[in-house]
Amino acid sequence: MNLDRRSFVKMAGAGSFAVVIPRGQNIFPGPAIPVATVMNPFNRVPVSLIIDDSTCLVNMAHFGIPQFAEVFPDQYKQDWRRLPREIPDSFVREFGEWCIENGMKGKYSIVPYPACTGWINRFIPGWTKEELENSLNLVREIILPNWDIHPEMVSHTRVIDIKTGKPYPYSTPEFMENWEWSQTKSVDELAAYQAYALAILKEADLPCEGLTTPGGYGGRNQNNLALSTLEAVRDVYGSEIPHYFRDLFTGKDKSVAPQVLFPSGLEGANPECVVSIIGCTGDWFGGWDGLEQGNVNNFITEDLKSGRMVEVIDSGEPAIMVCHWPGIYYNGNRVGFNILKEIKKRLDQKYDNLIWMKLSEIARYWAAKELTTISAANNSIILKAPFAAPGFTIRLNTSVRNPRIKHKSEEVPLLRIKDIKAIKNGTWHSDRTGSVLCFDMKKGASEVIIN
Ligand SMILES: [Zn+2]
Repeated sequence: MNLDRRSFVKMAGAGSFAVVIPRGQNIFPGPAIPVATVMNPFNRVPVSLIIDDSTCLVNMAHFGIPQFAEVFPDQYKQDWRRLPREIPDSFVREFGEWCIENGMKGKYSIVPYPACTGWINRFIPGWTKEELENSLNLVREIILPNWDIHPEMVSHTRVIDIKTGKPYPYSTPEFMENWEWSQTKSVDELAAYQAYALAILKEADLPCEGLTTPGGYGGRNQNNLALSTLEAVRDVYGSEIPHYFRDLFTGKDKSVAPQVLFPSGLEGANPECVVSIIGCTGDWFGGWDGLEQGNVNNFITEDLKSGRMVEVIDSGEPAIMVCHWPGIYYNGNRVGFNILKEIKKRLDQKYDNLIWMKLSEIARYWAAKELTTISAANNSIILKAPFAAPGFTIRLNTSVRNPRIKHKSEEVPLLRIKDIKAIKNGTWHSDRTGSVLCFDMKKGASEVIIN
């Protein structure tokens, strides 16, 4: 492990970073060495929505609550029999089409063996084979364009013995995915379990670059969780930048920027890292069980002046909301979905500088933002990028003339734009304080020629 690299990354993780490489002792007044700062993608604030506890057909609340109640009878007293057993595909379509029309993006879980009812790559008792096939096709058609797919471990209830494929026979916290089992496991043990979950999605022909932890999974075993995610997602899918969702912070005191963890091999052909995506809200939609009515004002108030989304967006960090699929459907009443529609309306009223992104897109951008080394040379900035990133946006504290990006032998000029809000790949903008350049950053070395 390269300790210098790790401590550099840790420091850089505190916010957008500036790198100045002095060329000798620059004590005389004269042309200053430019300082480059990596900005948000397209100079916009990323926003996203994390949807937990979704899968095909099965209402995870109906089937999960009795299993949780067996472990903690005092804490799970919901009358699960009154909850519908299914969240219908007609609702997946209604929701997914609205999200496509409105450009909303994020992560959508597909629990592979939902609450031990059946296997999404085989069959789920209670539904026909055709219904399951149609449900998977609907996910491919309506959900995939705007959402990352994650497993939420295997069942989200009982731990499965991956040697036999059967759930362990004990209804104790030590054998539930949500609670104790994961807290003491090694990297290899967690990786094998997570790979088992991922392989089911792969066999169902769903793409995947990350995973979501069910309940408290891995909460007290964070390093092993990160390393095992890196290993499992790479092994099963070969994804370049694995990511996961485990934590959310709702207080002002803590950064919610993605955490780029365990980078290695950055100079070589096969660089690695894993990204922990942090949510910034609680489920203030409809709860994990579809029984807790949320409140839009927690996200953004009617006067558009406050709320957690306003707080985070105004800080410039990615504002990633968290909800649960049963609460979005709300047993057919759509309470969570209606709150989401109102949030979108209010955000659109207040902001014109947001960009909806999938979690994998945010993970890639942050990996590039934090791990690309930037140095200044004569009339140019040298970028060494372990990972490519579209919409890579840098600010220079100097004016530029005819900037162009040189990668290998190819030189691409950037187009000047008058309005910074119109910035996109291949453009630049200057004002009195400096210049903003936005381009499709390729993996490897690039030179930004500025004069
Ligand atoms: Zn969950």
